[in-house]
Amino acid sequence: MSFVSEKHLLSKTSFLKSVQCSKAFFLYKNHYQLKDPLPKEKQAVFNRGYQVGVLAQNLFPGGVDVSPTHVAKFNDSVKKTKELIEQGQKVIYEAAFVHDGVLIALDILVNEGGKWYAYEVKSSLKISAAYVMDAALQYYVLSNNINLEDIYLVTMNDKYILQDSLDVQALFRIKSVKEDAEKNVDFIKYHIQQAKNTIDKDVLPKVEIGEKCFAPYQCDFYGTCWKHEPTNNIFEFSGISKKQAQVWFEKGFKTVYYIPEEELTGKTKLMVQSYKNHSEIIDKPALQKFYAKIKYPLAFFDAEMYAPAVPQYKGTTPFEAMPFLFSWHSLANDNEQPVHDYFFQEENSYAGKALLDKLIVQADKVNNILVFDTAQELKALSAVVKHFPEYKKQIDALKNKFIDFSDVFTNLWYYHPLTKGSMSLKKIYESVFGKSIFDDLPIKSGLLASYKYDDYLKEPDLFAKQELKTNLVEYCKTDTQAMYDLFVYIKVAIL
Ligand code: SF4
Repeated sequence: MSFVSEKHLLSKTSFLKSVQCSKAFFLYKNHYQLKDPLPKEKQAVFNRGYQVGVLAQNLFPGGVDVSPTHVAKFNDSVKKTKELIEQGQKVIYEAAFVHDGVLIALDILVNEGGKWYAYEVKSSLKISAAYVMDAALQYYVLSNNINLEDIYLVTMNDKYILQDSLDVQALFRIKSVKEDAEKNVDFIKYHIQQAKNTIDKDVLPKVEIGEKCFAPYQCDFYGTCWKHEPTNNIFEFSGISKKQAQVWFEKGFKTVYYIPEEELTGKTKLMVQSYKNHSEIIDKPALQKFYAKIKYPLAFFDAEMYAPAVPQYKGTTPFEAMPFLFSWHSLANDNEQPVHDYFFQEENSYAGKALLDKLIVQADKVNNILVFDTAQELKALSAVVKHFPEYKKQIDALKNKFIDFSDVFTNLWYYHPLTKGSMSLKKIYESVFGKSIFDDLPIKSGLLASYKYDDYLKEPDLFAKQELKTNLVEYCKTDTQAMYDLFVYIKVAIL
């Protein structure tokens, strides 16, 4: 077991950065302050991962946690791990080891019959390539320190259904990844050496931007690297896949202006032409047909989902999407202003029945319900009906009233050039009206709304709780307001 000087130390995070891009790795090691601010959503994902990791410790109770008191005190954790192993400790949480200049901390290390078993916990239903790479690095360091028999990834079990109490053993799924880890040892060694070379050269590597800036994750130095790139850079055009953008970028077509006409086909061609000509696409016949089928009274509907990794309510599964809030703007006819209403689940209990009751009452008053991307809402309603099959008939009738407003945009019946191919409601709104109505909101995305609802449920302070509720309701309301505004805008455009 070895210790290393900080200068040559690679952590799991910095190693993975090095594999993605040597420049990102160099910046991470030498100019950490240039890192993009961590989005609230990403922070929430980290927090959830930490909580799931702590819960998974119950799979192997009685362990000793050797997490460092500060990120700079990793050597204390390495030392403590070594001592505990020598003392015969059977279970260690956050066990830390160093080999070949790489420091790793493992979620759970277990000794059974004199052999060591490693467990890395992921707050996810699936094992991704990035997780396997992660485990391969740990395997390399661990097997050079201890007699490691096997290494496992611990993920959430999608078949688990919560009963009266949480069964931690059944909640998680454990899969050996030793074979994959062994296959990757040469790859790991090669990239460790590459990372060390980057440190030793001590010069910012010259790396061109490209597809790698987005995979497997968007690079933390995106803001620094891309700040001088033109806004019409080909990679920023959502209507072009990153893979295709890379091909064109390498051919020298660095902005959409340079892509030759003959290289473009289908919707991409129309979107690029729209961008070059600074002109909207308005397919009047298709839009007139779309608007003609809408019958008043009409409603604009949007629901927010809560999908906790660990099921909270009896009968639910890990990550089951549960609607907890919906916004409803109803419109009697073209001459009226829309009227807002909403449902919000205040109690920490499954919202299903109360939500369905209110939705059915509201839906009875209208002929059509406009939804932006019905797939999500239909999936959520189907999940609720699974728990309350007696509502199936009414919900099926309600679903028949749904009209997907996103069809207008995905079919390019209406397209705004400044969306650059994005089909997100927020981007479309901002492009059409020249400003965002979401910017001033404390909650700006559905993902963050889901995490904030979790905060709401746990918040003991009544004032803070009320503020979270207000912010959540306002966010969802803004979604249906944005739909209404766009609905009117396009309707006027085709008069
Ligand atoms: S933004 Fe791209 S080129 Fe720049 S450091 Fe990150 S991955 Fe490398």
